[in-house]
Amino acid sequence: MKPIAKAEPSSSLLSAPSLLQCVRKEFSRIPEHRGGGEVYTIPDTLMSALAMFGLKYSSLLRFDEQKNEPVVRHNLETLYGVSLAPSDTQMRSIVDGVSPVHLEPAFTALHRVAERQNVFKEYEYLGGYHLVPLDGTGHFCSGKVSCPHCCVKTQGNGAVQYYHQLLGAVVVHPDRPEVIPLAPEAITKGDGQTKNDCERNAAKRLLKRIKEQYQHLRPIIVEDSLSSNGPHIKLLKELGFRYILGVKPGDHGALFKDFDEAMRQGVAGEFETADKAGVIHGYRFVNGLGLNASHPDIQVNFLEYWEHDGNRETVFTWVTDFHLHQGNVEAVMRGGRARWKIENETFNTLKSQGYHLEHNYGHGEKYLATDFGYLTMLAFLIDQIQALGCELFRQAVRARRTKASFWEKLRTLFLGYLIPSWEILWQAIGKGHMASMLVLDTT
Ligand SMILES: [Zn+2]
Repeated sequence: MKPIAKAEPSSSLLSAPSLLQCVRKEFSRIPEHRGGGEVYTIPDTLMSALAMFGLKYSSLLRFDEQKNEPVVRHNLETLYGVSLAPSDTQMRSIVDGVSPVHLEPAFTALHRVAERQNVFKEYEYLGGYHLVPLDGTGHFCSGKVSCPHCCVKTQGNGAVQYYHQLLGAVVVHPDRPEVIPLAPEAITKGDGQTKNDCERNAAKRLLKRIKEQYQHLRPIIVEDSLSSNGPHIKLLKELGFRYILGVKPGDHGALFKDFDEAMRQGVAGEFETADKAGVIHGYRFVNGLGLNASHPDIQVNFLEYWEHDGNRETVFTWVTDFHLHQGNVEAVMRGGRARWKIENETFNTLKSQGYHLEHNYGHGEKYLATDFGYLTMLAFLIDQIQALGCELFRQAVRARRTKASFWEKLRTLFLGYLIPSWEILWQAIGKGHMASMLVLDTT
């Protein structure tokens, strides 16, 4: 497979000042939900919240205590454009009333900027398509507080648990570490009785929104075995999306039987290759099998792949609408396996690499928990775009041994120095000449 071009997208438009300005512009269009005469504006409040997630503060309270220090007020203004930051309680109350639907335009505006700088071109796969894995993740859980949108489950001991989940969609490429998250979709109580119903209904909304909002994308939807069902594949076809979906013998018995039969009749393709490390990669594939007994009319192409490193064999199976042949099964396999990028490089990063996605920042009465989930994803998107297109950001990250130490350095400077601009902040971290670039706060 052709490696991705060396040239990276690079432009000042892909740097923090212009990305944050773009987000602020979208926040300023959000309709006011309060009575009037308010001191704190919605853009200032949402930008303060975004700053909290961008700087990776683990608690609202800590952010609140420090927000009133003159140096923090100064830096919130120079870096995030916040003229008047609300207190912790005020922030929760204002954000709680903002429907997450109004946060979606900030994502699409950033994607438009990225699109104009050819970022999505770098993610093309299998002849001009884009791999878009979908997956759900929990981001709030409580035995006590709840809201009208909470999903509810009763545990074995009868205790009720309230929780919130987001369905994420991320543009990925097997050769790229950065991922580009799209605006997520909240999985809410009204979505169904079972966890699977809930995820399926949220997936319908998310896929329809991707179709409407991302006309420049040609998605290959990548999902696990739960999604390999008739109604879902029909929806993907209606929307004009391609797919690579996991299948399991336990869920798709008839399909696996038909595949075995095709093998016996000798109509399946089969070959093995060995790579430089001696790992064996094996493929078996058949085109045009019926999905299952209830949807024999849905024809799918079936791919089985195994990897053997001398000790252990791992087997994967997918269905896809790409016509399979010896020349493309490796690319389809890598596309199917890129699903782990939403689990690992997105959700695990958001939970354990500084973003605190599962941390309880507050639940609110209407939209707070969901909005905080969206804003965490938005902060992550901004970092990912900078990692793709801002050389100063990349230099600053490279200067620290780990991401954790990078975020720690960022917070230390934010709290201790008067920072005139992002450019100088990234240079200060990248080159390590703090004192000559920043003014130490001595108040
Ligand atoms: Zn809730």
